[in-house]
Amino acid sequence: MRYSAHFRCINGCTDKISLNTVIYRCPTCNNLLEVIHDMDALKDRSSQSWISLFNDRYRSSEFPYGSGVWGKKEWILPEIDSEHIVSMYEGATNLFRSQRLEKLFKQREIWVKLCGNSHTGSFKDLGMTVLVSQVKSMIAAGQPIRAIACASTGDTSAALAAYAANAEIPAIILLPKNKVSLTQLIQPVANGAMVLALDTDFDGCMKIVQELTYEKEIYLANSMNSLRIEGQKTVGIEVIQQLDWRVPDWFIIPGGNLGNVSALGNGLLMLLELGLIQKLPRIALAQAEKASPLYESFKKGFEEFKPVKAQKTLASAIQIGNPVSVNKAIKTLRRFNGVVEQTSEDELANASALADFSGLMTDPHTGVALAALQKLKSSNTIQHEETVVVISTANGLKFTDFKVKYHENTLDEVNVKYQNIPIEIEANIDIVKKLVHKKVEELMKHGLE
Ligand SMILES: *Cc1c(COP(=O)(O)O)cnc(C)c1O
Repeated sequence: MRYSAHFRCINGCTDKISLNTVIYRCPTCNNLLEVIHDMDALKDRSSQSWISLFNDRYRSSEFPYGSGVWGKKEWILPEIDSEHIVSMYEGATNLFRSQRLEKLFKQREIWVKLCGNSHTGSFKDLGMTVLVSQVKSMIAAGQPIRAIACASTGDTSAALAAYAANAEIPAIILLPKNKVSLTQLIQPVANGAMVLALDTDFDGCMKIVQELTYEKEIYLANSMNSLRIEGQKTVGIEVIQQLDWRVPDWFIIPGGNLGNVSALGNGLLMLLELGLIQKLPRIALAQAEKASPLYESFKKGFEEFKPVKAQKTLASAIQIGNPVSVNKAIKTLRRFNGVVEQTSEDELANASALADFSGLMTDPHTGVALAALQKLKSSNTIQHEETVVVISTANGLKFTDFKVKYHENTLDEVNVKYQNIPIEIEANIDIVKKLVHKKVEELMKHGLE
């Protein structure tokens, strides 16, 4: 195989650790690892030739290349044998554009990357297919790995449970007892994972899972594992491909543990280095006010970073006060002339509801990104003529409770602006007809919004 990749410490103190090693942090300085590709080898193909290869594979039925992730296999895990790839045709999600959305958000060109239209309903599939495939390959090579574990309350556990089930590898999910909703619980339960409800909070689960995976027979799937970043980095590459290799002015992405924003950056940097694009977009990282340590750091020019105690937010997947990938994220934001914005509960809930009027079904994290767009427009950071890509990280159907409470107007700290409630009415044609015509008349007069 001509192409190759290996782990390296993000501080550069340890180089060339094989991807077949069970390792999550640098043995010397304990910092995170990243996957480094042999870029000189990848340069043996011209940018045009990469473009044709990726275009030919996109959504094809040839395993595994029709997957949005594995269509870029040489840039992800070049050395893995395809027979070990655990893919459920993740990625290759649609890029939504509509005049209605642009009208509602008063922006000339907005594209929404619907990562939630993937196998388990969030972008976490993109990284999990890579991690579970690598584990399957290591087991086949005789490594004594018996199970994969993670601490999570939401999307990570759903993705791990699905991919591990598909690979016939036991999955162990550690959840804080009585702190997760039924929807968050049911995906790993349905997929047959071992779900442990611990009498602690998320941080407590994280501590236990790290000790549990210390022995190496149980493999750790939390996002400090940089294999997940390799799959997640396809999101930016795929958007550029869907835009016919045109570079937008901005990406807006919601962030919690901050692995995803660095993954987005890594994919775009590979495109630049291999000549598929000629310039970089800017990146705006969006946080919820209730958990916004990176926003505070950004205001001080990233000179210092202080973890905070995250407070309860509707955007539960980014309710993180001490993000594990903060150093990677700051590096990315510096390289992309990036900004950080924060949004209140009120702003994120209303932005989500407004966007839904265009036919979308947005989750609260996408609400954070869209509210950040509104705020960056009013501070003149983003101009009306600029092209904006919003990364929608999950499917709104996973957050029905949030939607129901919004329209019932029972959310704390939210002043509901776009309420729509079912009208209870007698089953009588005359009464129905009268009401329908009256309502339609009102709509004609005042518009839909
Ligand atoms: C995990 C997740 C995020 C945040 O990604 P990080 O890599 O933790 O910053 C955002 N939105 C959703 C829906 C997620 O599941």
